[in-house]
Amino acid sequence: MSVDTHETELMLRTVRSFMEAEIFPHEDLVDRTANVPEELGRQIEARAKEVGLYAANMPERVGGGGLSMKAMSLIEREYGKTSHALHSWIARPTELLLACVGDQIDRYLMPAVRGEKRELFALTEPEAGSDAMGMKSNARRDGADWILNGSKHFISAPRLADFAIVFAVTGMDETKRGPRKRVTAFLVDTGTPGFEIREGNKSASYRGYKTYQLSFTDVRLGPGQILGEEGRGFELAGQWLGMGRVWVGTSCCGKAERIMALATEWAANRRQFGQPIGQFQATGFKLADMAIGLRTADLLVADAVTRAEEGRLTDADVSMVKVYCSEMLNRTADDAVQIFGGMGLMEELPIQRLWRDSRLERIWDGTSEIQRHIITRSILRPFGA
Ligand SMILES: Cc1cc2nc3c(=O)[nH]c(=O)nc-3n(C[C@H](O)[C@H](O)[C@H](O)COP(=O)(O)OP(=O)(O)OC[C@H]3O[C@@H](n4cnc5c(N)ncnc54)[C@H](O)[C@@H]3O)c2cc1C
Repeated sequence: MSVDTHETELMLRTVRSFMEAEIFPHEDLVDRTANVPEELGRQIEARAKEVGLYAANMPERVGGGGLSMKAMSLIEREYGKTSHALHSWIARPTELLLACVGDQIDRYLMPAVRGEKRELFALTEPEAGSDAMGMKSNARRDGADWILNGSKHFISAPRLADFAIVFAVTGMDETKRGPRKRVTAFLVDTGTPGFEIREGNKSASYRGYKTYQLSFTDVRLGPGQILGEEGRGFELAGQWLGMGRVWVGTSCCGKAERIMALATEWAANRRQFGQPIGQFQATGFKLADMAIGLRTADLLVADAVTRAEEGRLTDADVSMVKVYCSEMLNRTADDAVQIFGGMGLMEELPIQRLWRDSRLERIWDGTSEIQRHIITRSILRPFGA
C-alpha cells in the first residue's frame, strides 16, 4: 500500500523496528510452547506504550493515538506479519468502548486506553457461531437490575481479561418479518459473583493466543452495566465490526507479503535438476499468482478504507475484503508450502507456522461462507429476492 504522508511513513518505520526488536525474536518460542510468558507480554505492552503504539486506534480526546483509518490499516498490515499471540499485547481496545457513558468512562474506557484493563468481546456461543441470533445467553429484569445467564466460548485475548462485553437476549421485538430477539451488550467485570471464566480450546493457528469459556449463572448487573442502549447491542457491534473485518483483510496482506518473500528466496536458491526451482514455470507461476493476489487484495483494502473515510462503506464492501484477502492469503500459504517441498512442513522453518496461522483468517470474524451470503444478499435485495 502507498504511504502518503511523512508522518505515516515515520509511524510505519516505528512499527517495523518495533516488530524486529520486540516481536519477531519470540515467534518460535511462543509457537513451540503455545504460550506467551506473562513477563514477555508485559514487556511488549510497556515498550509499545513507550513508542506510542498503544491504543493507536482510539481518538486523541480519550488519550489514544488518534490515527486515521488509512494509517491504522497500514499498521494492522504490519502486525499481520506475525502471530496474534504476540502483537495482541500491543492493545487496541475495541472502539465499542467509545459508547461508554457516565461512570463507565472511568471504569472501562479510560483504563482500557491506558492499558490498565483488558476487555473481551463475547458474542459466540457453543450453539451460536455464524448464527449469532441463535444465542441463548439472556438477561431478565429484576427491579432496576438485570440477571444474566448463559455461556460463551472461543472468546479470545492475549491474557485473562478484566471485563467482558457480553451480548445477551433481553426480550423479543415484533418486526415485519416476525419476532426478533432484542440483544443487549453488558459490561461484566471478571470476579462478579456467578461469572466464571476459564481457558478454553487451544487453536492450531496463533498458538499461545488464548480462547476462553465464559459462563454466567444468575449474575446480577446494575443498570449502569449496559453498554449503549438496551436492545441495541447488535446495532452497536455493527458500527465497529465492519472495520474489524477490513483490519483482518489488511493483516492478511501483511502475512501474505512475508510468506511470499520467504517463498521467493527459497525458489531462487533451492536448486534441482541443476537450476533454481523458481525457473521451472510450475514454481515461478505460483510466485506470479501470489503477486497478483497480493496487489489485488491491497487495492481492495485501500478502496474500503477510502469508502469508510467518505462514510459510504457497505456491509458487502467489507465482506468482499474479508473473503478475498483471507482466501488470497490461504492460497499463498499453501503454494509456499509446495514451493518449499518437504521442508515447508518442518518445524525448523517458519513456513508451516505461517500456513497454520493463515487458516484461521477464513473462519473468525465471520466465515467466508457468511461473507458470501452477505454479498449475495446485497446483490439480490434490489430485486426483492
Ligand atoms: C481462535 C478463535 C478466536 C475467536 N475469538 C472470538 C472472540 O473473541 N469473540 C467472539 O465472539 N468470537 C470469537 N471467535 C468465534 C468465531 O467468530 C467463530 O468461530 C466464527 O464466527 C464461526 O462460528 P463457528 O466456529 O461456530 O462455526 P459454525 O457457525 O458452526 O460454522 C461451521 C461451518 O458451517 C458454515 N455455515 C454456517 N452457517 C452457514 C450458512 N448460513 N451458509 C453457509 N454456510 C454456513 C460456516 O461457514 C462454517 O464453514 C473466535 C474463534 C476462534 C477459532
